[in-house]
Amino acid sequence: MKKKFICIICPNGCEIEAEFDEKGIQRLEGNTCDKGAEYVKKEIFSPERGLATSVRVENGSLSLVSVKTSKPVPKGRIMDVMKEVGKLKVPAPVKVGDILLEDILGTGADLVATKNIGKA
Ligand code: SF4
Repeated sequence: MKKKFICIICPNGCEIEAEFDEKGIQRLEGNTCDKGAEYVKKEIFSPERGLATSVRVENGSLSLVSVKTSKPVPKGRIMDVMKEVGKLKVPAPVKVGDILLEDILGTGADLVATKNIGKA
């Protein structure tokens, strides 16, 4: 299989073309450093994404607080993580850096508040 990627590891944004099968990467062109090769390998075999969303707040000055995951989670689990986060409602006050949910669904990523929300 053949696929093109834009490496996002640094501002150079190298366009990398990879040929791969179930055994691994067979050919790689366009990366100007090893980090690009690592990036493509991860994108093909175990892609991850950081998640930023919001969570409902009880008795807060605002009804939502912005949140993000402490580290990327497997791309295939994003929808499950979103459903889990969607069930949450946290009491005010909330401070930037508060962990609102630990080890979301065993991914090892915590859900962290990125905004301060005071009491209503
Ligand atoms: S391959 Fe290397 S130089 Fe190119 S964008 Fe990726 S990290 Fe930067």
